[in-house]
Amino acid sequence: MTTPPPIPEAAPTAGKIMLVGIGPGSEAHMTARARQAIEEADTVIGYVTYIKLVADLLEGKEIIRKSMTEELDRAVSALDAARQGKKVALISSGDAGVYGMAGPTYEVLFQAGWTPDDPVQVEIIPGASALNSCAARVGAPLTHDFCAISLSDLLTPWPTIARRLDAVAMADFVVALYNPKSGRRTRQIVEAQRLFLRHRRPDTPVAIVKSAYRRREQILFTTLDQMAEADIGMLSTVLIGNSNTFVRHGLMVTPRGYANKYDLEQGGETRDGEKRGRSLSTGLLGWLDTLQAEHAEGLDIDTLAARHRLPADYIRSTLLEPVTATAVESEENA
Ligand code: SAH
Repeated sequence: MTTPPPIPEAAPTAGKIMLVGIGPGSEAHMTARARQAIEEADTVIGYVTYIKLVADLLEGKEIIRKSMTEELDRAVSALDAARQGKKVALISSGDAGVYGMAGPTYEVLFQAGWTPDDPVQVEIIPGASALNSCAARVGAPLTHDFCAISLSDLLTPWPTIARRLDAVAMADFVVALYNPKSGRRTRQIVEAQRLFLRHRRPDTPVAIVKSAYRRREQILFTTLDQMAEADIGMLSTVLIGNSNTFVRHGLMVTPRGYANKYDLEQGGETRDGEKRGRSLSTGLLGWLDTLQAEHAEGLDIDTLAARHRLPADYIRSTLLEPVTATAVESEENA
């Protein structure tokens, strides 16, 4: 009796890792692609809370629940499953690239020798991050330059966090503080407040949004000098305004700057010295003119640096470059 030749193994179809940002947590605010990706998946991996948020999409799927501290584990499990030919959805709240699983996953993949040519494909599916959702609930606080800082020191040294807080407080950014406080991390928000108060007015508007678009949503308006006493937790995002941010009729608004250029009370007429479609008179070219004039009047570099709150070497190199004729530019954007 001869043994039959082995049946050739079917070439395994390559798996896929999908990093899915599910948005703030309500079904209505999840993108169509995020929903489709979860439906497509054979295996869904995520933190227990997020798994619950998408429970109705999970019938018949393999579910791997992980705790917060098992992030690298989650990425490893995703790669293992994808190597076996499975489609894996790794779910993050908000956007997977914002304090989410996208970074750790690529780190694990690179460590395992993965490259973009690998049969295992990776797709990142963007979602509305907490700062988008929380901003939408309180008005329009992020309509000018803003940044996000996480107060979590689980993976980031405190001096790094403190340095960033100090820099953005000084530079007058609107700030979204992620991971502001937990049962064990209660002092970080107090330190953040202390650093901010060195640069910002005590009555700077602050909004605290807990569980945006989820069942226990809570919105609170306060001020910089009061914010540390407010009810803040793991599910809160703290939005701190810049020096122009105001609260009116229960809405937090950061002006875009239209009032610098247009007289909003006079039917939107341009202010003296300003032109539609052109940089402000205090924009780069206008400012360079001012700087040259001040320098010609005899103000030295250090005085100019202090007056304009910019580094002296920047002022110096700027003054060395001849001012070019007014550039043609038009950027009236919506
Ligand atoms: N990837 C997520 C952020 C994860 S870090 C995103 O893009 O939003 C976790 C932090 O996000 C929380 O501590 C909280 O500061 C913020 N957060 C997430 N979902 C939120 C929600 N629905 N409402 C308010 N804050 C939220």
